[in-house]
Amino acid sequence: MGKNLVSVVRYRMPYESVKKAVLECGGFDRLSPKARVFIKPNIVFWNKNCSFPKWGVITTSRVIEDTVILLKEYGIEDITIGEGIVTSPDDTETPDHAFKSLGYQVLKERYGVKYINIMKRPFRRIDLGDGISLNYNEDILESDFLVDIPAMKSHNQTVVSLGIKNLKGTIDISSRKKCHSADPNKDLHYHIARLPDPMPPILTIIDGIYSLERGPGFDGRMRRTNLLLASGDVLSADMVGAKILGHDPAEVNYLVQAAKRSGRPLDLSDIEIVGERIEDVASYHEHDFTYISGDSGEMPRAMARQGLEGLFYRKFDDTMCTYCSRLNGVILTAIRQAWQGKPWNNIEVLTGKAMEPSPGMGATVLVGQCMFTKNKDHPHIQELFAAKGCPPDSRDIVDALNNAGIAVDSILFEQIDKLPELFMTRYQDNPDFDESFFQVT
Ligand code: SF4
Repeated sequence: MGKNLVSVVRYRMPYESVKKAVLECGGFDRLSPKARVFIKPNIVFWNKNCSFPKWGVITTSRVIEDTVILLKEYGIEDITIGEGIVTSPDDTETPDHAFKSLGYQVLKERYGVKYINIMKRPFRRIDLGDGISLNYNEDILESDFLVDIPAMKSHNQTVVSLGIKNLKGTIDISSRKKCHSADPNKDLHYHIARLPDPMPPILTIIDGIYSLERGPGFDGRMRRTNLLLASGDVLSADMVGAKILGHDPAEVNYLVQAAKRSGRPLDLSDIEIVGERIEDVASYHEHDFTYISGDSGEMPRAMARQGLEGLFYRKFDDTMCTYCSRLNGVILTAIRQAWQGKPWNNIEVLTGKAMEPSPGMGATVLVGQCMFTKNKDHPHIQELFAAKGCPPDSRDIVDALNNAGIAVDSILFEQIDKLPELFMTRYQDNPDFDESFFQVT
């Protein structure tokens, strides 16, 4: 059997670079001109209330349009772009705003493509074996060919987030929560490794025009990387992508599990790379913030350097799913701002689905319904303050922290929709970070 081809191409110009990446890996070898093609971009986050940095967070519209042109030239008529952006359950305006801002309406008018909000479409329960079932979007299941276009990023829970992880956006919210299982034998990585199972043939194009360190969100560090990777084998694309981000596939749990299931080696020995050599283009992308732990507290390094004491805020684990993740950064920022230089009374804050209270704490704050259900009667808890709900209401979080003794300002939570704009200042006046990559003109 021949090796799996992965093309690694420097992004130099619109259309030509995507074409080179796709053709050099034989990306259309399994594509019939009559195929119904589904394009899955990576729109991790959207905010209609302010501008925010998208570089490496969201697939560029440049690559999406170039892919559409290439498919049309190949004779493909039936193209659907689909994404399931996480928003509050009744919010349909934000996905519409995202699709229009990213130029998908222009693509529809110019090339006749359709674009859909997966959350408004039917889902089908798929049995993935071993007692696992997930609800997948039906449009993708019924397509003949999938073009999977993740933004290239390292990720604070999965080390890297590339082609396989991007497919998580095709399942419904309850399935996404299920993926963040507290069962150590069937955890997040176990679920992610199985995501491609029911998919049609996949062409993966990893959009590395921009890449993201400490993703997946806008608070990571963005880089202009100018790379495109493509492969007709999603696992090969991800293993090469991981190497380029400076992470050995053997250290990426979901890649280890995916490779094991398909009897593949992790050393890339069954992969042929066409184009740039990994060593010439690789650059280490840190995947997570460092936490410091000691007698006087546990918290992100930046907070420890600020001098905070008496706070035990353990690093979130893989069981914390997206809704709680989005609140976690705000909670940490609010606590930093609340610091007055006087040590707190050993306040422990617990998140996700698996953490358990430590003995000897003055107060325990449980964030989210999962934590409350699991630990509300735990014998180690002296004083309990909980923000129940899935996801928890930010007013309840503020109350819980305030009552525990951390006087956070509710304004940060009330203005949560404006926070992303603050991160724009890191990139303004830098011509490398070009907003037009996310527009179709
Ligand atoms: S409470 Fe948080 S961690 Fe638990 S299911 Fe809901 S969003 Fe996920």
